[in-house]
Amino acid sequence: MRWSKFLRAGTHGALGMSLFVCMGGSVHANPFSQGAQASLHAAAFESGSGFDADESSAAVTSKLGPDERQALLAKSAPEITPWLEVTVKSGDSLSRVFERVGLPARELMALLALGDTVAPLKRLRPGDTLELRKTTDGRLAELRFELDAIKTLSITRSGVESEAGAGALNAQIVRLQTQTRQLTARGTVEGSLSRSLAKAGVPAAVSAQLAHIYRYRANLSRQMHAGDRFSIVYEAEYANGERVATGPVVAASITTDGRNLKAFRAVNEDGETRYYDAEGRAYEPSLSRHPVNYSRISSPYNPDRLHPILHIRRPHWGVDMAAPRGTPIHAAGDGVVKFVGRRHGYGRIVQLSHFDGYSTRYGHMYQFADGLKRGDHVKKGQVIGYVGATGEATGPHLHYEVRLNGRPHNPLTMKLPDGHPLPKSRLAAYTSRIQPLIAALDDVPNMSQTLVASSAGARHGCTQASTVNATFALTPHNLQRSHSLADLFCVVSSDSNA
Ligand SMILES: [Zn+2]
Repeated sequence: MRWSKFLRAGTHGALGMSLFVCMGGSVHANPFSQGAQASLHAAAFESGSGFDADESSAAVTSKLGPDERQALLAKSAPEITPWLEVTVKSGDSLSRVFERVGLPARELMALLALGDTVAPLKRLRPGDTLELRKTTDGRLAELRFELDAIKTLSITRSGVESEAGAGALNAQIVRLQTQTRQLTARGTVEGSLSRSLAKAGVPAAVSAQLAHIYRYRANLSRQMHAGDRFSIVYEAEYANGERVATGPVVAASITTDGRNLKAFRAVNEDGETRYYDAEGRAYEPSLSRHPVNYSRISSPYNPDRLHPILHIRRPHWGVDMAAPRGTPIHAAGDGVVKFVGRRHGYGRIVQLSHFDGYSTRYGHMYQFADGLKRGDHVKKGQVIGYVGATGEATGPHLHYEVRLNGRPHNPLTMKLPDGHPLPKSRLAAYTSRIQPLIAALDDVPNMSQTLVASSAGARHGCTQASTVNATFALTPHNLQRSHSLADLFCVVSSDSNA
């Protein structure tokens, strides 16, 4: 139950607790709830009935007759209904949801007036869940919407519990208290790499990152075979012992074809996060083969092509990457804009000049990036325009060309220029920082304390002990964060069931 998460996280006080109990099946809220008692006490005191100010409210109510009690209760704040859980249906909007639960349009307007914080409520999708409760006089008292595993949009109404009556709505993002943990998984490939990673407890998102990090050095899913080894150090966010999010890969090692490739996450001098080898050489080349997220290659590089529209032999000096109109196109590398505009068959085209004689062209654009002009400096990955079908094009695609000293090359197969290494000024710090990571990846004795999954699981009574052929390590870094072995192991063990 998602509520338990909030309550355990301590983001709610006594009120939240009593409601939680209420949700658990009690018939209705006690009419002598905190708010009613408080107003009762205040009213009795004002009427000059001679009670001591510190006399308990229970004592006060016991001294009133039944009619007086009724009269005082009528003046008290409106009650609040139990929590309702509303699931968004296909075709729903927030206004439809409000209608369904009987909240009037003015409540919707008041909510939407809260601005950007409540914007996620304008983009509800089928299956989303809202939790809300109302006052008995038909106003919104509180609303919760989980934005992700960690963040929840919380709408509250001030003064709703007091006799003064309900005040204004407030919106805030409540963030679950989380801890970042560094986890290490190691294993040997048995069958497919992806299954072996899953067996070692590596979440799918982390496996995907691994493939991405190595994509210019190795096609992991194709190249890694039985007996090849992998180890990964990655971050994960935990709240109350449960994993709520996985973070980035911090370090990785693969051994395949007799080669060992280690990669480490680091921030370069431009503040960008990249992966480097132990010597500080970049894993990614400085030019990208794929400046757009395409669905298929609609026409390959072909120096001897018959043109599909002109029906004459005309070389195709680039690669056509089919993608929906409007898909962002990214600069393939750092460079300077040489041309932005229209050019015969290319339609709307951007030309970039890079380094060491490399240049790139991006044709058939639907639109250029806002304000992009000749002479601008662009960074690798920066959006320079959007996919279209301008010029001689039969459908929306990017025509992508790479030239070296003016001569075209096949972007998908040419040897790409090496990425920029970490600058010498950062290398010493980098080298010392990665030493414990290298030890964790290689499982060097005395540097990490290793638990074998099956035995440790039984010892600590974890419900789902993993029996995979993999070990999990506590690096010195983990130990500094004062997690007990049992604690970390149970976590890792539950990972393997994710
Ligand atoms: Zn083309």
